[in-house]
Amino acid sequence: MTHGAHPLAPAPHADIDQARHCADCRGWGTVITPDGRHELCPACQRPEETDSSAVRA
Ligand SMILES: [Zn+2]
Repeated sequence: MTHGAHPLAPAPHADIDQARHCADCRGWGTVITPDGRHELCPACQRPEETDSSAVRA
């Protein structure tokens, strides 16, 4: 998983709950950029999660 990744650049913390049904990241919540870095999946992860009121049914 971390093969080739910088040891000081761990994968960002993703919300697995949101990524569960995501086909983009296959439920990981993170995607690999062309640079080989981990980034939060733009399809299911939001850059800023200021939602204090959970809206998951
Ligand atoms: Zn995703």
